[in-house]
Amino acid sequence: MAFEGLTEKLSNAFKKLRGKGRLTEADVKEAMREIRMALLEADVSYKVVKDFVSKVSERAVGSDVLESLTPAQMIVKIVNEELTALMGGEDAKLTISSKPPTVVMLVGLQGAGKTTNGAKLAGLMKKQGKRPLLAACDIYRPAAIEQLEVVGSQLDIPVFQMGQISPVDIARAAVEHAQKHGSDMVFLDTAGRLHVDEELMMELQDIKNAVEPDEILLVVDAMIGQDAVNAAKAFDDALDLTGVMLTKLDGDARGGAALSIRAVTGKPIKFVGMGEKLDQVEVFHPDRMASRILG
Ligand code: GDP
Repeated sequence: MAFEGLTEKLSNAFKKLRGKGRLTEADVKEAMREIRMALLEADVSYKVVKDFVSKVSERAVGSDVLESLTPAQMIVKIVNEELTALMGGEDAKLTISSKPPTVVMLVGLQGAGKTTNGAKLAGLMKKQGKRPLLAACDIYRPAAIEQLEVVGSQLDIPVFQMGQISPVDIARAAVEHAQKHGSDMVFLDTAGRLHVDEELMMELQDIKNAVEPDEILLVVDAMIGQDAVNAAKAFDDALDLTGVMLTKLDGDARGGAALSIRAVTGKPIKFVGMGEKLDQVEVFHPDRMASRILG
């Protein structure tokens, strides 16, 4: 599970404070230094760490904290609240169109987990009573269409494909197909590349303009750390994302991406992928994630 290192280091910092009873400003300063190191080691962006620590310090050196009977506990509470705020505060919901079908476009780098996680998300919506359709818009890897068909059949969700024609035409046709056949959600599985490139972005913009998706979710691999944040920035600049789905949080990612993405892009993490199985998907709750990080 991601965040193990961060959880351990934060808990060590808090343990020292707890051992002290009454706290001085110097104690708080030392704890802030440790929190700062822990976040940097977890690969949280430098500026995000700086702002975070300054917010926590400001609250922690207040007289109501230092003079309280349980100052250490109050500092843990402040860190918890600020971590929650950093990750967006409230849960971010999926926008559902008042005129079905709701179109969800999944974008991201190759290997980020688009195909798997698009299917997971469609499966989650199916459980909630929706009738999703998966659409194969990655025409560059023939195996991608097949992979989508495999996951679709595992979840008993129909898959729309037209082979290797223009992805813009496929996206349009998929939405029409959904309208005709009673699917109320369409998940567009788009192509990825190993790196962000102009041509890919243009193709994604063309798809966006053609079908005007209700959601454009960036699927991003938590394991790639700071690069995930850079990719999120590039995709957001090109497409104006509506949200992020962070995958592979079950791995030993240091977790920095989860903590930086919202602050850097302003876009919410809406879902997380927690494993290779198709039911290993969760709605992202900033408060629960903060509590999980604090152990
Ligand atoms: P795409 O190229 O973006 O479509 O990526 P895929 O959906 O093909 O996923 C790439 C690899 O990541 C596959 O082996 C998936 O099984 C794996 N994967 C996807 N999501 C997760 C996750 O949440 N946890 C783990 N451990 N593996 C994942």
